[in-house]
Amino acid sequence: SLPEPLLDVEDLRVAYGGIQAVKGLSLQVRPGELVCLIGANGAGKTTTLKALTGLLAPQAGRIRFKGRDLAGQGAWDRVRAGLVMVPEGRGTFTRMSIDENLRMGAYLRRDAAGVEADLAEVFARFPRLQERRQQLAGTLSGGEQQMLAMGRALLARPELLLLDEPSMGLAPIMVDRIFEVIADIHARGTTVLLVEQNASRALALADRGYVMESGELGMQGPAAELLADPRVQAAYLGA
Ligand code: ATP
Repeated sequence: SLPEPLLDVEDLRVAYGGIQAVKGLSLQVRPGELVCLIGANGAGKTTTLKALTGLLAPQAGRIRFKGRDLAGQGAWDRVRAGLVMVPEGRGTFTRMSIDENLRMGAYLRRDAAGVEADLAEVFARFPRLQERRQQLAGTLSGGEQQMLAMGRALLARPELLLLDEPSMGLAPIMVDRIFEVIADIHARGTTVLLVEQNASRALALADRGYVMESGELGMQGPAAELLADPRVQAAYLGA
């Protein structure tokens, strides 16, 4: 039998004033999975992630993480519980150093030795960040800032890593590198929910996928099946 979901979202509804952005979304992410949420611009993917992390209050629905209902839990409670997002546009602190940015990810942790060990691991993974650790984050390229944002999220010890459009606006070589990094983070045991407009790359990496259309779920299933589906190919893969 399948393990209990790590994340269990049931009939989520989110609105901006009178605008319904998410209209009853249900999805699950099981421990160890890499799940992608794809869909066109404005489909409601970012809004969904913001509701998961507590940045937006849902109108209705239930979000359970590790079996616990997240209603009433603030954004920081969720980070502490292991639900960590790398936001769209990276959200790095451009006037702070790379080192300081990474340490911000560990802000809620009390295990100083563990933080130093994780910092060393992030630097080993991203040597470029180590070389430039005292420089301001604003001096990094877009791809390097994405690495920094991912490194910062790893410093929070995520159990579920939410990635919002990590490849957006990056040069092709950096897109390759970012997807390698995501695959590696997943391979080392972190569960991932990946939001992407680059559907073919996301599906190539994922175990399962969900397609979002105008605030609602369309198709869902094993990523390989979605990748091969003519409807998905026509709508999202430029076939
Ligand atoms: P993108 O990839 O462009 O971020 P998305 O799938 O993540 O697209 P959302 O950003 O979640 O989509 O947007 C969903 C809908 O909600 C869109 O119709 C958008 O115009 C609307 N929306 C998003 N943010 C706001 C806001 N702050 N106020 C009002 N409407 C918003």
